[in-house]
Amino acid sequence: MLVSVSTTRRVFLLAATGLVLLGLRRGGSFRPALATEGGNFEIAKTEAEWRRLLTPQQFEVLREEDTERAWSSPLNKEHRPGVYRCAGCGLPTFSSETKFESGTGWPSFWAALDDSIRTKPEGIEYFYPRTEVHCRRCGGHLGHVFNDGPPPTHLRYCMNGVALTFEPARAASSGN
Ligand SMILES: [Zn+2]
Repeated sequence: MLVSVSTTRRVFLLAATGLVLLGLRRGGSFRPALATEGGNFEIAKTEAEWRRLLTPQQFEVLREEDTERAWSSPLNKEHRPGVYRCAGCGLPTFSSETKFESGTGWPSFWAALDDSIRTKPEGIEYFYPRTEVHCRRCGGHLGHVFNDGPPPTHLRYCMNGVALTFEPARAASSGN
């Protein structure tokens, strides 16, 4: 009986270790582009200035790192070609070309535009590294990035729609 319990426990521990190792290995697949957040941002405003500029909901997400309710953003259903900008400063951060249906209830992308974001590791949650995503220019909190996304990057940028504004692309040939 004792042996049986001990064996079960050992198997459980081995399984747990395997999952942790898997998490670490997957964590290692982050690209070098995901550098740690610097701290100083090009656009710096006081809390009062941000409150004047943003809606209360935008302020909570961008400046206080809140997360919007799943399925609440109209951007979940946005499928037109275009650019998604930081709602705080207008910096283009994501392209419709990398948007995908993640089924999570938040607008999701498999890549950010070049030099548009900064990231900050936030620890491990459910064996997956959770990393904060901030706007490179104003430091606004946009969402999180996970490494369970689709190819080619296998990243999943899980964004708060309220932290983004969508700008539809102009028709390539306006004469038609
Ligand atoms: Zn910004």
